[in-house]
Amino acid sequence: MSDEICPTCSLPKDICRCQELAKSEQRIKVHVEKRKWGREVTLVSGIDNREISLSELVTKLKNRLACGGSAKDGIILLMGDHRNRIREVLTTLGFPSDNIDIS
Ligand SMILES: [Zn+2]
Repeated sequence: MSDEICPTCSLPKDICRCQELAKSEQRIKVHVEKRKWGREVTLVSGIDNREISLSELVTKLKNRLACGGSAKDGIILLMGDHRNRIREVLTTLGFPSDNIDIS
């Protein structure tokens, strides 16, 4: 349990639904880049980190995709190419499939 109060709706964060609502409004872009030594990384951008906790989200993504990763400057970086599974995982986490743009 947490005693924190949501600044948006003034409800305790445990029962506040703001983050769930915010999830439905994110326009998520996913793309893959080649980094040094030919390593591929999957970049997830477009999520507003004032509304969604990117550090929590990246932890869930790393667990479900069994990869390393980090969140920095509003962008989630995951090691490897996860384009084949990331839509399913993000949808499971509450993000609408229609709002996920994978290139
Ligand atoms: Zn709230």
